[in-house]
Amino acid sequence: MIDWIAAAFTSTKTAGDIAKSLMTLRDEESVRSRVFELTSSLMDLQGQLLSAQSEQTTLINRIHALEVDILKFQRWDEEKARYQLHQFPSGALAFQIKPECQSTEPMHYLCALCIERAEKSVMQPCGAGLKCHSCAAVIPTKAHVPINVRRIRNR
Ligand SMILES: [Zn+2]
Repeated sequence: MIDWIAAAFTSTKTAGDIAKSLMTLRDEESVRSRVFELTSSLMDLQGQLLSAQSEQTTLINRIHALEVDILKFQRWDEEKARYQLHQFPSGALAFQIKPECQSTEPMHYLCALCIERAEKSVMQPCGAGLKCHSCAAVIPTKAHVPINVRRIRNR
């Protein structure tokens, strides 16, 4: 990735050596030849600097993307800390907003499956349970009452 640095140093040293040698040359053909080498070396250096600029742009973009990810994770951790795991009488689990964090929000639950994927999905009533409309999970909230007990209660 940083091969251009070594190449740029080499090109710079070569250009400097060529420039020094020009001072001692008296033959016009030799001067012309060394100037051609110098131009070639400077063009190499220019190419290496363009590579460096391209890599720098790539790295800056990558750093920006990582900073966005870090911020997203920090915000998610703060949001997730507002909830606690809750077990319904059925035994099913969901994340319930902590009473001290509720403020003006109604009591609600987040899907335990989606929260593990760092996704906030408020569960909605569905029959005798709650449903996550993101992953389609349905959880019962009430304790399971065996059929024979239901008959006794209904009498
Ligand atoms: Zn879900």
